[in-house]
Amino acid sequence: MLHVEGKVIILTGASSGIGEATARLLAQNGAKVILAARREERLLYLQRELQQRGRIVEYKVTNVSSQSEVEDLVMYTIEKFGHVDVLINNAGIMPLSYLHERKVSEWDQMIDVNMKGILYGIDSVLPHMRKQKKGHIINVSSVTGHIVHKTWAVYSGTKFAVRAITEALRQEEVKNNIRTTIICPGGVKTELANTISTESIKKEIDDSMDIALSPNAIANGILYALSQPEEIAVNEIIIRPTRQE
Ligand code: NDP
Repeated sequence: MLHVEGKVIILTGASSGIGEATARLLAQNGAKVILAARREERLLYLQRELQQRGRIVEYKVTNVSSQSEVEDLVMYTIEKFGHVDVLINNAGIMPLSYLHERKVSEWDQMIDVNMKGILYGIDSVLPHMRKQKKGHIINVSSVTGHIVHKTWAVYSGTKFAVRAITEALRQEEVKNNIRTTIICPGGVKTELANTISTESIKKEIDDSMDIALSPNAIANGILYALSQPEEIAVNEIIIRPTRQE
């Protein structure tokens, strides 16, 4: 039996890509999954599909850059299932640009979703997990949370921050039996590049997609981290396409 069976798992960014694939895999393995994202029609469609197969799935429309909406998501989960075992902070956006283009509002959005969204998630579940004296927080960073290239300044900055925040969280909460995992995907075929408004950069990303992985590859990594017995913490996983530099 995998250790995900029966676990109550909040999953942000569940409406597409890595989140959607992870929702399917976790629900199929017996987890109780609460899907969160902004696009309600996508969440509803996924919930219906999974429920028809007998999976236990709820959803709550949530903008992770709103602290109160993230708090509501956690409260909703506790009302439905009584507690939270796992939070997967997966929601993210990637409007890459050159710094000289001065796309300040895109920088703000990335910081709000990729960084503050994760902090709001941690803030909302931590009191419950500390009280339970157990829990697992999985934060999705990136290979670009380890290395930076031109045009990736702000996105990479948020993903470096995700790793920093997660490692500090790990050190602070080991005594409370709270596990942390950083997931660092390389190129994955999803909708992530759709927010890139600089045409040449969007083309570069689109052109790199021929070697990109299926979102299932990342979902499998998340399942691996979640499937370990209580005494084993998988703290970080990097998953790249074999042919990615
Ligand atoms: P997608 O664009 O397919 O998925 C992103 C998800 O985040 C969507 O479900 C979207 O839902 C959600 N989201 C975006 N903004 C918000 C918000 N404000 N509030 C709530 N949800 C939001 O891309 P991926 O699946 O690729 O991205 C998932 C994670 O993986 C991200 O953190 C990304 O940075 C990371 N990653 C992806 C890589 C890749 O190559 N694809 C590589 C490395 C890391 P909605 O729009 O409905 O709100």
